[in-house]
Amino acid sequence: MHWESRHERAPAVTVLAVGAYTVDFYIFGDRLPSVGETVAATGTASAHGGKAANVAVAAARLGGRARFIGAVGGDQEGAEALATLTRDGVDVSACPRTDPPTARSFICLDSRGQQYIMTWAGAADGLTADVAAAGAALLRPGAVLVLQGEIPVAVSAAAAAAAVPGVTVVLNPSPVEPFTQPRSDPDAARLLARADLVVLNAAECRRLIGERAGSTPSGLSAEAAQLRRQIRTATVVVTVGAQGALVIREGSEMHVPAPEVKVVDTTGAGDGFVGALAAGIAAGMPLAEAVLLACRAAAVSVTRQFCIPSYPRASELSHAPL
Ligand code: ATP
Repeated sequence: MHWESRHERAPAVTVLAVGAYTVDFYIFGDRLPSVGETVAATGTASAHGGKAANVAVAAARLGGRARFIGAVGGDQEGAEALATLTRDGVDVSACPRTDPPTARSFICLDSRGQQYIMTWAGAADGLTADVAAAGAALLRPGAVLVLQGEIPVAVSAAAAAAAVPGVTVVLNPSPVEPFTQPRSDPDAARLLARADLVVLNAAECRRLIGERAGSTPSGLSAEAAQLRRQIRTATVVVTVGAQGALVIREGSEMHVPAPEVKVVDTTGAGDGFVGALAAGIAAGMPLAEAVLLACRAAAVSVTRQFCIPSYPRASELSHAPL
């Protein structure tokens, strides 16, 4: 394909995020409604997001040479999507444009930073396994491929399978639903098996092991260790909001605390964490250092509103609380 030959001359991509781009529509209120209730909102806004796009920008701002591969609509939002990512130095040259409109999310956010999110895939489902795999196959050893659950698992699995040995495959199984039945879904099983690192939040960890949860920190460590054995992945990283992250590997467990910050909006904190982690790994950091970087970057992101606008640059981290 013509974009491949152009990129042979460009600096090698170090972080490739394959997945979805969404436009996020926010509605703000003092509190979230309960089911069936209507609550008066205090304002609205729209912003760009989508897990893979968020990851690509978060990684690029921390020095990763990032590429995003995801389908966007032929609509105005699709054009804005590509322009937004390009402004942050993210390579979007392999992104297909499709007939269905660009994916969108609707986010209800309360004054404490709590949210409800519903998301519609739209164009994002138009990314084919061939395009995803072609992009992943260009990665060199040392690079990082990041995948999530916002596009069909078969497409992510094709990308993971095309990555050469030495490429670190980071899977953030979010939304978690496509990964809950790996025994009956060969693509999910293949993807989980190829992932070097599975990064997920505590609720997702519990969904994947199929249990309802003890909520103590030691309970979570045991659950994460169980997940690691269950999916036969080298490393599981569980993000635990204001408590930071747990890193579980064969025979070892580490807790990396989060810096204490004043929370404004936690939306996209997980993606900011994954993007920073990928940038750290791609830069050759040991895992513990990369997780620390991710905790620091994600802590800054929760002090700001929205996803993409909230992710810090490397220069901002030197002033951030530790
Ligand atoms: P989201 O769905 O909001 O993107 P998540 O549920 O996927 O987030 P969390 O575990 O809530 O993931 O947060 C991801 C990371 O962000 C945490 O591991 C932590 O490093 C950072 N973080 C989240 N909330 C806070 C907080 N209140 N203070 C400091 N850091 C935070």
